[in-house]
Amino acid sequence: MGAASPAAAESYGSTLAERLEALKLALPPTTRLLAVSKGHPADLVRQAAALGQRSFGESRLQEAIAKQEQLADGPDLDWHFIGRLQANKARAVLRRFGTIHSVDSLALAERLQRIAAEEGLAPGILLQVKFRADPAKTGFDPAEVRALGAELGRLEPLRCLGLMTIAPLGLTPEARLELFRECRDLADALGLPDCSMGMSGDWHEAIAAGSTWVRLGSVLFGSRPIQP
Ligand SMILES: *Cc1c(COP(=O)(O)O)cnc(C)c1O
Repeated sequence: MGAASPAAAESYGSTLAERLEALKLALPPTTRLLAVSKGHPADLVRQAAALGQRSFGESRLQEAIAKQEQLADGPDLDWHFIGRLQANKARAVLRRFGTIHSVDSLALAERLQRIAAEEGLAPGILLQVKFRADPAKTGFDPAEVRALGAELGRLEPLRCLGLMTIAPLGLTPEARLELFRECRDLADALGLPDCSMGMSGDWHEAIAAGSTWVRLGSVLFGSRPIQP
C-alpha cells in the first residue's frame, strides 16, 4: 500500500526507549525527530519526555490541550501543530504551540500573523505544500509558494521556517523520493532551512531528500489506540 504501510514499531525495538534510541540513531544529524503523539495518551508523552524527547506533534487542538494540561507539571515541551487548522482555532493554536507545520493558505498565514502580533507571539511556521494532486489533503500549490518568494519575510512576527509536505498514498518509493526532492529544492530556492517531511511509512525517502523534521507516530509509539 505504498506510503500507507509503515514499518511496524516492533521492528525498532520492543520498548519505547529502544525505539526512540534506534530511530534517533537512524536519522542524520540535520534531521530532527518530531514525536507524533496524536491518538496516544499523555502518559506515553510523559514516558518519551523522561527519555529526553522534547518535540511533540499533535493534530487535534482539544486532544492536545487535554494532554498539555495533564503534562503541565513535567518538563517544558516543544509542541508542534501538524493538523488541519480551522480559522476559528487559530488563536488557541497560537497560544498552545510554538510551531505550526500545517499553514495551508495565504489567508490562514495572514490570520495567524495578525493574531500573533496581537498576542505578542513569534511562532515558527511551515507552509504545507501539495506537490501532487491529492483530494485528501490541503496545501499551497508549489507555484504559489514560489511566487510568494521574498514576501515570506513580510509575514512577521511569524517566522517562516520552511515547507511541509505529505506524500499521497500509493506512490512507489522512487516517486516519493522525487516528490520530497521537489520539496527540498523549493525550500532551497526560497532560502528556507526546514523541510518537514517523512512519516512512519516514508521517512527513509524523506531523509534521503533532505528532511529536517520527520514526523513519526506509529513507528515510535505503536498503532494509535484513540482514532484522532
Ligand atoms: C498522524 C500524522 C503523522 C504521523 O503518522 P505516522 O504514520 O503514525 O507516523 C505525521 N504527520 C501528520 C501530518 C500526521 O497527521
